[in-house]
Amino acid sequence: MEFVIIWLICGGIAAMIASSKGGNGAIGFVVGLLFGPFGIIAAFFMGNEQKADANKIASGDSKKCPRCAELVKPDALVCKHCSHEFQAAAA
Ligand SMILES: [Zn+2]
Repeated sequence: MEFVIIWLICGGIAAMIASSKGGNGAIGFVVGLLFGPFGIIAAFFMGNEQKADANKIASGDSKKCPRCAELVKPDALVCKHCSHEFQAAAA
């Protein structure tokens, strides 16, 4: 029975970590429930992807496509994901 409680606590911790990092807390909870302590570790990386995207935009390494919201190179004239054409003067 303790085993279940530990897994539940892991789910709660993973949910908190995931949501505090800008990720989805509900997904973090499920991951924590499924993988226990490993889910907590996984939760650490869940929000990081979104954070990394924000950092890339802030540092000028990437820009966000207004049509598909994917990151593309700042010099790109056409989005590689959705073929959206950027305004050349924007850069
Ligand atoms: Zn696009």
